[in-house]
Amino acid sequence: MKKFFTFHYSLLPFLLLIVSCKPSPVGEIEGTERMWDVDYNFVLSGDSLVLQEDRPMHLQIVPDEADSFVVYKNDHLVVAQIEVIPEDSIDSVWVKVARDQLTQGWVHESALMEAVVPDDPISQGIHLFSDSHVIAAVALFMVALVAWLVRRGLKRRFHIVHIDDIASPYPMLLCLCFAAATVLYTSIQIFVPQVWAEFYFNPTLNPFGQPTLLCLFLALAWVIVILTIASLDDIRRSLTATEAVLYTLSLLAFLAVIYIFFSITTQYLLGYFLWMAYAAIAVWQYWRRHRPRYRCAHCGAPLHDRSSCPKCGL
Ligand SMILES: [Zn+2]
Repeated sequence: MKKFFTFHYSLLPFLLLIVSCKPSPVGEIEGTERMWDVDYNFVLSGDSLVLQEDRPMHLQIVPDEADSFVVYKNDHLVVAQIEVIPEDSIDSVWVKVARDQLTQGWVHESALMEAVVPDDPISQGIHLFSDSHVIAAVALFMVALVAWLVRRGLKRRFHIVHIDDIASPYPMLLCLCFAAATVLYTSIQIFVPQVWAEFYFNPTLNPFGQPTLLCLFLALAWVIVILTIASLDDIRRSLTATEAVLYTLSLLAFLAVIYIFFSITTQYLLGYFLWMAYAAIAVWQYWRRHRPRYRCAHCGAPLHDRSSCPKCGL
């Protein structure tokens, strides 16, 4: 069995945020070699999968009366053997998988790929967020969140990144890095899809020793984790509890907008130029208007100017 590292789990929400959604279905990419082999571990993600008890024979494919049995959702399957039957018109590759010592059977590779995900939390996260229902649910939640924030914003002003930012560079840097990660992620999908497929079947959080684009992407994922923690800490320090929650929600909605905007524009190769323009404007705006020049004498919160403190109101 493949070993997991516990830090996979703790970083999962951040990684999911970054890798959530992919244009092409993850799986076998035409013309490339198989990314998994004997002893690879899968989990059944479909409702059930029918396995044939008898080994498929050359020139005698799937007898109608073949004995078969069913494995169910969340069953763990390990690849025991891979056999090529060139005469098979449906799929020439047969895979023998084992749920346990007694439950072992054969299935076409194509049928297997449709029903399983790799037994790793990162792969399962990618798989989950490639589900169109999940994307629709997240998009719907984001639309509702933006609508609610706009309604509230019309009644009473609240802080938002870039436009009316807090006196901290981290939310601005988080947005820039998130945009860069989106551009990189889309680029990997377009230019080197086999690298993404390889990552899906053999995920890692270690950026070293990876192809350049994937290495940059994973390094950015780590930077995003650090910036998220730094941002949350500065938001807490600079704003009252209610305003901090509102600011964090608006930041989340803004990141969703960034993701949609840059994943679409990068597909038309505009994302690179737009990212450079966005970075220049964001840094300039922060330096001109939002950089902390003063500190509140009462509570120590960083301030843009000498007006009243947003944290304690004095
Ligand atoms: Zn204060």
